[in-house]
Formats: sequence, C-alpha cells, structure tokens
Amino acid sequence: MDADAVLDIAGVGFGPANLALAIALDEMDSAGRAVTARFFEAQERFGWHRGMLIEGATMQVPFLKDLVTMRNPTSRFSFLSFLHTRGRIVDFANTKTFFPLRTEFHEYLAWAAEQFENRVSYRSEVIGIRSATGPGDVEAVDVSVRVGGRDEAPRTHRARNVVIAAGGRPRMPEGLPESERIWHSSRLLDGVQAIAGSKPSSFVVLGSGQSAAEAVDYLHCEFTDAQVHSVHSRYGYSVADDSSFTNSIFNPVAVDHHFAASESVRRSLHAYHANTNYSVVDEGLIRRLYQTSYLESVTGRRRLHVHKVSRLVEVTPVGERLRIVIEFLPDGSTTTVEADALVCATGYLRADPASLLGDLLPRCRRDGQGRLLLDRNRRVATDESVKCGIYVLGYGEHSHGLSETLLSLTAVRAGELAEVLTKELV
Ligand SMILES: Cc1cc2nc3c(=O)[nH]c(=O)nc-3n(C[C@H](O)[C@H](O)[C@H](O)COP(=O)(O)OP(=O)(O)OC[C@H]3O[C@@H](n4cnc5c(N)ncnc54)[C@H](O)[C@@H]3O)c2cc1C
Repeated sequence: MDADAVLDIAGVGFGPANLALAIALDEMDSAGRAVTARFFEAQERFGWHRGMLIEGATMQVPFLKDLVTMRNPTSRFSFLSFLHTRGRIVDFANTKTFFPLRTEFHEYLAWAAEQFENRVSYRSEVIGIRSATGPGDVEAVDVSVRVGGRDEAPRTHRARNVVIAAGGRPRMPEGLPESERIWHSSRLLDGVQAIAGSKPSSFVVLGSGQSAAEAVDYLHCEFTDAQVHSVHSRYGYSVADDSSFTNSIFNPVAVDHHFAASESVRRSLHAYHANTNYSVVDEGLIRRLYQTSYLESVTGRRRLHVHKVSRLVEVTPVGERLRIVIEFLPDGSTTTVEADALVCATGYLRADPASLLGDLLPRCRRDGQGRLLLDRNRRVATDESVKCGIYVLGYGEHSHGLSETLLSLTAVRAGELAEVLTKELV
C-alpha cells in the first residue's frame, strides 16, 4: 500500500448508485471542492444486470430519473445528453415514451461509467474493511480488495470514508443450488446462450414478479417450439402500481417522511406500497402474456402453461434435463414436467454491509432488529471512536423507504451524499 495515498472516499461497487456518486463528486469538484475517490467493482467491466438485458424490455422508471437530472438538470451526464452524443435525440422523442429500452439505458450507464475509468478498479472485489489505526480512534479504514482471481493476495487501500453500494445478490429457493440447468434469473441470457445449441424444448420459470414475467415472455418468443411453464403461488400476476399519487412514494421528500416516522408507520407504508416494486409486473406485459395464453386456448396449440397457486416440490436432474414436480396447492395434485432448464426469478437479497465491516462492526450501532442504524445521510451510526465515515447506498429500505434500492432517487441520493462528504472534507 502506498502510505501517502489515503483516499478521501473508497467506494464498494460501481453500479448506478456509486456511478451517480462519482458524477456528483465530479460536478462538485468542478465547483472547486476536490476530493480523491476510488471505486472498487467486482465485475470485469461496467455492467448493470447484464443477464436480464432482454431485447425489448423497458425501464421501470422514466428517463428523467437517470443518474443526474433530478439533482442537476443541466448535467452533461444526463440520458438526453447521452442520446445527443449518439445522434438519437430526435428519434427517441418520436417514440413518445418516457421509458427507454433497458438495453439502451445500459448503454447510457456504460457511457457514463466510461468517463470515470480512471477512478474505478474493475475485477476488484472488496472482501473486508478494517480500522487502519488499530483498536483506538478510527481515523481511517483499510479496504481489502481481491484483484482478479482468488489466488492473488488482496491489496489494501486506505481511506477516510467508505461508501458501500454493493446492490443485492441473487436469492435462490432454499436447497436449490444453481447449476448448468438451474439458473437464477440474473443469469438468464448466459444460461440460454449456453444451451441454445441443443434446441431446448421446455422451460420452467419460478416466480411471479417482473423478472419472472419477462423470462416467461422472452423464452416463449425466443424458442418458438418450446413449452414454457410459469409456476407461482399467486392466483395470477399482479399489476405494479405506478399510478401518479402512489408514485410520489419515490419523491425526495418521501425519504424525509419515512425517516421521521415511527417504526409502525414505516411498516404500514411499506405494506401499503410494496406493490410498487415487489412481486408485481408491468400491466402491458401482463396483458401480452394473457393474450398469448388466450390465443393458444383458441388455437389449441398450447405452449404457455401458467401453474397458478403452485409450488415446486421436486427438481431432479435426469441426464441433460430436469424432472420437475409441480404441486397445485389447493388440492395437492401434482404435475411432472421434463424441462431443459429451470429459471428461478426469486428475487435478490440486499447485501448486508455488516458482513464487510470486520473489526469495525462491534463499534457500529444496530436497531431493535439487528440492522445497522443509519442517520438521514445514510452514515452508519457508530460509537465515538469511529472518526471516519461509513456510508451505505441502497441498504436502508427499512429506515429511508421503498426508493432506497431503486433508481428513482439515484441522482438525489448521490447529490446528498456528495454534499455531505465534500463539506466534511473541506
Ligand atoms: C433486471 C432488473 C431490472 C431493474 N430495473 C429497474 C428499473 O427499471 N428501475 C428501478 O428503479 N430499479 C430497477 N431495478 C432495481 C435495481 O436494484 C436498480 O436498478 C440498481 O441496480 C441499483 O443500483 P446499485 O448501484 O445500488 O446496485 P447494483 O446495480 O446491484 O450495483 C452494485 C455493484 O456492486 C458490485 N459489487 C457487489 N459486491 C461487491 C464487492 N464486495 N466488491 C466490489 N464490487 C461489488 C456489483 O458487481 C455491482 O456492479 C432492476 C433490477 C433488476 C434485477
């Protein structure tokens, strides 16, 4: 480690959250408050949910909620600025939509990330964060980074502040590990590519949320002779509530309301509005799937099979394929399906930043449910010996509200944090 090179900020992860922070810091730099920041990203290059970049899938947020616009509409890192550089701004306007294609938004994010190459270390997984100054006051932290493969010795970077924005990790059903034929939806496109040559004729998709519905639709369209089985415990796919009043739960002020509220008010807000994000599907996609299903019932050529109120009871590899037993919960009857692959669209677990915090953890405060306690600025509350800042982005849904893990407030959150960090470092 270069002992002189103490970073002002070390960032864990370089997804949209820390990318937006890098931009906000850069724009504040230009205003004369320079800070040194380096971001460590486990992937070998920038990538935003690459395994789900299904052609034709669209964003769930309007382009105005890009990396910057809600904070600084004049930023050169806006989606519109990106479109301009690609010569597509007029054509995009003619699509008359606020919701870009996910592939195009990915291109936008990658374009923005490219402009920060000199501040990002890719293939760099943060494996721990420790006090750099021993058991006394913590004036700085040592961020331990595994570069490249597992065999290489970790490198250490010292920093005065750390911002953990590590996103979520795929959640698989209990007792069902991933394999060549069993994929979490985050690996959908890679998995498909690996088996496409063997002409798959049957798929099972588990789950009832947006990713599940997208996977069903994609597999049905892509493999025009294949049977596609959708298995979920609901009676039907439910619509994502993106109506205007409800959508204001993603306004910046809603974070203040949520943060100020009692635990019981927070819980009821979450319960009322979880259907803006969890286990829900875009209405247009539901309509399309239903029309497909209806059309097939008319023609008699059924390829889309929706197993409602159902669960998987057995998944057994048989040669190259899987034998999957599906139980219909109301009467316990079962159906057996031979499938080439099982896609588990079973969501994500938010990475708990505590797992990275090593010897700092006993100095961090927790709430009644054992979660790290955050202040309004998303700084982890610690005892007084910790002088450096440990911040998280995308973790505090319980304290800051439903928008925390999503893109709506990416720009605003990044701006708030950049403001706090630059003030502290002056
Ligand atoms: C398919 C899909 C589509 C989505 N679409 C939308 C949408 O339209 N609108 C919306 O609001 N939300 C959407 N979401 C929700 C999603 O959480 C956000 O879009 C967004 O990814 C959050 O950004 P983030 O930077 O917090 O996390 P992530 O995008 O998950 O980025 C975290 C990064 O940290 C890296 N990382 C993790 N651990 C480490 C480590 N230890 N060391 C180094 N690097 C690490 C990861 O490789 C990753 O690149 C979608 C989610 C999925 C799965």
